Amino acid sequence: MMQELIQGLKDIVGGEYVSTHLEDRFFYSRDGGTMESFEPDVVVLPQDSNQVSKILSLANKNKVPVYCMGAGLTLSGLHRAISGGILIDMKRMDKIIEVNERSRYVVVEAGISQGKLQAYLKKNYPHLKHSMPDAPPAATIGGNVAIHGSGHLSFLGGFHSDMVTGLEVVLADGRIIRTGSCSVSNYWFAKAPLPDLSGLFLGWFATTGIITKVGLKLYPAHPLSDVRVLICEDPKIMEEIIFKVTDLNIAEDIITWMTPKPDWARGFLHCNVIYGAKTKDELIFKRDLLFEQVRDLIDKKVTGFLPLLPFMKKRFLDVPGKDLVRFADVRKGGGFEYVGAMIPTNLFSDAYKLGLDIAQKHKVAYSLGSRIIGNSHSMMFFYAYAFNRADLADVKNAQNALYETNKKVIDIGGIPWKAEIPAQKEILKKMDKNTKGLIFELKKLLDPNHIMSPGNLEE
Ligand SMILES: Cc1cc2nc3c(=O)[nH]c(=O)nc-3n(C[C@H](O)[C@H](O)[C@H](O)COP(=O)(O)OP(=O)(O)OC[C@H]3O[C@@H](n4cnc5c(N)ncnc54)[C@H](O)[C@@H]3O)c2cc1C
Repeated sequence: MMQELIQGLKDIVGGEYVSTHLEDRFFYSRDGGTMESFEPDVVVLPQDSNQVSKILSLANKNKVPVYCMGAGLTLSGLHRAISGGILIDMKRMDKIIEVNERSRYVVVEAGISQGKLQAYLKKNYPHLKHSMPDAPPAATIGGNVAIHGSGHLSFLGGFHSDMVTGLEVVLADGRIIRTGSCSVSNYWFAKAPLPDLSGLFLGWFATTGIITKVGLKLYPAHPLSDVRVLICEDPKIMEEIIFKVTDLNIAEDIITWMTPKPDWARGFLHCNVIYGAKTKDELIFKRDLLFEQVRDLIDKKVTGFLPLLPFMKKRFLDVPGKDLVRFADVRKGGGFEYVGAMIPTNLFSDAYKLGLDIAQKHKVAYSLGSRIIGNSHSMMFFYAYAFNRADLADVKNAQNALYETNKKVIDIGGIPWKAEIPAQKEILKKMDKNTKGLIFELKKLLDPNHIMSPGNLEE
């Protein structure tokens, strides 16, 4: 049966875009995180929505599992083919279909990389930009919105899934559907005022359908930008700083970070406040406003601005930011994974303490931080642990630290993001029974043969 299926896939996309080679299956079986590897039987790279539709129809008819990968960069192993079968790599679907300049949105194929969209906008629409995650630029738009990613405009616009204006999705039986205004109009301007079907595909780990096109909000790109870094020792003061800075509402991006390396930085909490402006005067005005907003804390000598020379600012203003990538190889051997947890901003101190306790207990190389999202309703708090992939004890240690972090995050009231399979189970354990029941019913309705990413969102 597998031979027939492989021939069927070759007929759909062409022989050179189907692979059963051992090397390819090995490559697609894993990512840079700690999760165990699982090989797909076959990897296929479609070129358009019709090909995705034919692949899913074929898989559905033969009841063969289908997994979907953008760039495979979650570090939680979410694209792994846990039950074998077909892995669809979306990277060939990378077209920019339309930029609507006045309504500030773009329509793209879901496999386009963040880097390609960023470069295209910089060249052709320098006054517009999309929100970039700090992931390597190969990360795809589809993979990122599918997991409720966030990025350098998330303080303004919320999660990247909040910036979605519409989707085209292929269902398990091959039907192609649209969500949002594009299901009625030629314009992909909003999800409102229709029933919001996009929610059936965002946050589901490809268990309900494969996103083939995305309408995404764009934002004004300011010609000038600046960063100011506030520093303090007490996490409760950092909560106060976050409240004051977000109340001022001038920032595009607000990031906190704490790292034990270099030694002088240990125990200090930093808050990067990044803002843009059209003119130099506006930039200075915003800088002065920020100073006034935290002046009482500066007078009490509990915070202050880190002096930064102009050439030092670049690394804080780089989009995507490279600090996590730099940290990733701190233990050498290329192992790195982080728990990203969605947490209400008022729990900053608890989230920080939790990270320090776990790092101390498991003696892992760590870096902690958070990105404030959607005018501070929540934050993505990250607990990054580096390990040496060649040292199995080191890998196990990081895995234990990650697992415990996920559990403790749920205990304090947060929710693990892009959750690995064990953390997905923990979330479902804690979830309201009727809500969980509805999730399983919807999955069954959309995927009666249980071919879509089996192993995910399951008890
Ligand atoms: C150093 C580093 C920094 C990072 N910083 C950030 C950050 O700032 N913000 C952030 O959001 N993330 C960050 N990440 C996490 C991650 O890399 C990104 O979220 C990335 O955008 C995920 O996209 P991807 O293409 O790699 O998705 P994949 O890993 O390929 O897929 C993610 C999930 O979505 C599903 N999926 C993929 N494509 C589709 C589709 N077309 N339709 C339906 N389901 C699909 C997959 O099956 C999987 O469940 C970072 C990662 C690293 C390594």
